Amino acid sequence: VWKNCLQIIKDNIPNQSFKTWFEPIKALKLEGKVLTIQVPSLFFYEWLEEHYVGLLRKTVKKQLGDDGRLEYNIVVDKSSSTGNPYTTNMPSNGNGAEAKMQSMPIPVSINKDIKNPFIIPGLKKLNVDPQLNANYTFDNYIEGDCNRLARSAGYAVAAKPGGTSFNPLMIYGGVGLGKTHLAQAIGNEIKRNMPDKLVIYVSCEKFCQQFVDSLKNNTINDFVNFYQAMDVIIMDDVHNFAGKEKTQDIFFHIFNHLHQMGKQVILTSDKPPKDLAGLEERLLSRFKWGLSADLQIPDLETRIAILKKKMYADGIELPAEVIEYVAHNIDNNVRELEGAMVSLLAQSTLNKKDIDLALAKQMLKNFIKNTSKEISMEYIQKLVCEYFEVPVDMVKSQTRKREIVQARQISMYLSKSHTKSSLKTIGAFFGGRDHSTVIYACQTVEDLIETDKKFKIYVNDIQKKLKMS
Ligand code: ADP
Ligand code: MG
Repeated sequence: VWKNCLQIIKDNIPNQSFKTWFEPIKALKLEGKVLTIQVPSLFFYEWLEEHYVGLLRKTVKKQLGDDGRLEYNIVVDKSSSTGNPYTTNMPSNGNGAEAKMQSMPIPVSINKDIKNPFIIPGLKKLNVDPQLNANYTFDNYIEGDCNRLARSAGYAVAAKPGGTSFNPLMIYGGVGLGKTHLAQAIGNEIKRNMPDKLVIYVSCEKFCQQFVDSLKNNTINDFVNFYQAMDVIIMDDVHNFAGKEKTQDIFFHIFNHLHQMGKQVILTSDKPPKDLAGLEERLLSRFKWGLSADLQIPDLETRIAILKKKMYADGIELPAEVIEYVAHNIDNNVRELEGAMVSLLAQSTLNKKDIDLALAKQMLKNFIKNTSKEISMEYIQKLVCEYFEVPVDMVKSQTRKREIVQARQISMYLSKSHTKSSLKTIGAFFGGRDHSTVIYACQTVEDLIETDKKFKIYVNDIQKKLKMS
């Protein structure tokens, strides 16, 4: 009977859809007028119900008569060792989320009233790999003045996801200050205490990529359904939404859905919501609904504590004076702090020398020299032109085109504040101009920073890039 059904279905839908959605189905039994088929997952079942219910019903009736009925068995092996977990085709790169059923066959009768099979009562067995890094916990997230609010808000959210007024919780702060760590710690804490909660961590970039892929593969429904079925979504680096209007649109809908259902949204960003350029106003206004908490550069004490904890976790013992020395000298971000320590350890292994203060001093001298080597005007010019996507040599030309003038003036301004060059040298470098032009440029930029929010963000962005180099 099922074979006949398949033949009819095959004639009615595109070959690719048939292959994807019908070939994996197994016919189990026929009892009277009830045909039972087995599908590989709840997700599969949902898809069939949503897209092919009419076709299925008609086909079954054709074969079994008007009182013919179809029942589903939903099954997926829980262990991936059997090599056959059903992976949603949603995440593009293979290491994405997997929707797996946790249990052996569960009979499910067709119930036309169910809109979202993810929440069939008593059947909440769907398990999604939350994509969390287990090393990012609250336990090893050192508390300090720099992160007190964000950390305790995060803790509150973890205790009661969706149940606080911190929804969304937006964590913002500069590079390497612990946004990802804290956001993931919340996810890990929720999973620890409430393993049944569906938690998903996704970087904004990956989300955008998945969206583009789902457009290409015609799986938008899967994509949206997947995220809308979550209890907690952690989206990292939402500033990367800038300029991606369609993806913002989709996220807006997902956000609204989750928020309405009392589900928790956690966001991170390198800027506070009010400074996020390139994001749609309606999305930004949502981001401001809950709590925005910032992460600052940790003070010396906190930096020392972070290093100690890290060394302890790695089973490494270092003289306190060395740790203090490193913490004292690397003071802009935690990632660099850890980086300095790692190269210190590497160097000591390489040279077969114990790490003492002398070695730390010698090593750090290189480290600091490397990171803060003098910024050149060429480099500034290159960064600015890359940022505004204008050809590098144009800045030195005589053109008065608006975007070139802007790039030129910002280059001059940054050269004045970030190099030791004189006004005369700067003017000469940027196309043989005199020092009054440089003064004028700097004034213009300063004025614009005061009055034009977007402009200020541009300059800040470039400055950040300069500092990172
Ligand atoms: P961001 O996402 O803000 O760029 P990360 O979360 O990736 O920063 O943090 C960079 C590194 O610093 C990570 O290894 C993280 O574990 C560590 N780190 C940052 N803040 C803390 C903290 N308060 N305690 C312990 N480790 C921290
Ligand atoms: Mg990060």
